[in-house]
Amino acid sequence: MKGKLENNSEKIYGGIEAGGTKFVCAIGTGPNDLRAREKFRTTNPKETLNHAIGFFKNYSYKQLTAIGIASFGPLDLNISSLTFGYITSTPKPEWANTDILGIIKSALNVPVAIDTDVNGAALGEYRFGSAKNLENFIYLTIGTGIGGGAMINGKLVHGLLHPEMGHIRIPHDREKDPFPGLCPYHSDCFEGLASGPAISSRWGKPAQELPDNHPAWELEAHYIALALTSYICTLSPERIILGGGVMERTVMLPLIRGEVQKLLNNYISKPEITKNIDNYIVTPELGKYAGVLGAIALAEEKANCEAGNKS
Ligand code: ZN
Repeated sequence: MKGKLENNSEKIYGGIEAGGTKFVCAIGTGPNDLRAREKFRTTNPKETLNHAIGFFKNYSYKQLTAIGIASFGPLDLNISSLTFGYITSTPKPEWANTDILGIIKSALNVPVAIDTDVNGAALGEYRFGSAKNLENFIYLTIGTGIGGGAMINGKLVHGLLHPEMGHIRIPHDREKDPFPGLCPYHSDCFEGLASGPAISSRWGKPAQELPDNHPAWELEAHYIALALTSYICTLSPERIILGGGVMERTVMLPLIRGEVQKLLNNYISKPEITKNIDNYIVTPELGKYAGVLGAIALAEEKANCEAGNKS
């Protein structure tokens, strides 16, 4: 593999998409320049992280400028914490209290950045996809769970922990929808009512098997639109990107756009919403490489930040 990365002044990044079921590692600088990529199953931490480390070592890792990790969580992202960069209390067997950042950093000896998978995906869209040139936007994934990342004034929001956009409360008309919700903490929060498993459980069959004209999708669009109007009114995003398995159903996007306009009722009288909502609520651009490109974007940000600190 020598020779591939021989130009020392060139900045090349490593990305690790650390998912609960699969890991994806890649080397490159963006969507048109992924020089190596490998996908493997997530097993126990030792085996999985060794596999990732081996991937980078095989590709002359010493020449990487930085590595980014976009990981499943929950994660400790408080830089003053002793367990910064750890996967903390996950129910995933053997992964609780895993120092994912520390293990990668000490094995490969390059600057390493870490963030949540959804923040990684948001940063990837900002750098390479649907949110290019926007400093205020939201990335929401609606699938097995619901998670969101927010960029405000060019920075991903972390704050106390990180946003948990899937767990906001939304109006739930129990006469129209008696389904009690699935969230183990809140029952009928947004995720409890509108995740993929909630759809399957409410209608008694896998969401994928429900036809496009099933009332499930209209109700789903209503719940998503309720959540989006709350984010629009509080965070004032310039665009909203909706990803995840539920959004692969193409009838959803137009239903959500229409419902958002109806719920806002022209109160926010900006043409982005009243006239051009097709460009305001969109799907991600990066497709199946979104996760690992997000990780590469995290690495790039880390490298720029370190360069800034030195100058
Ligand atoms: Zn909840």
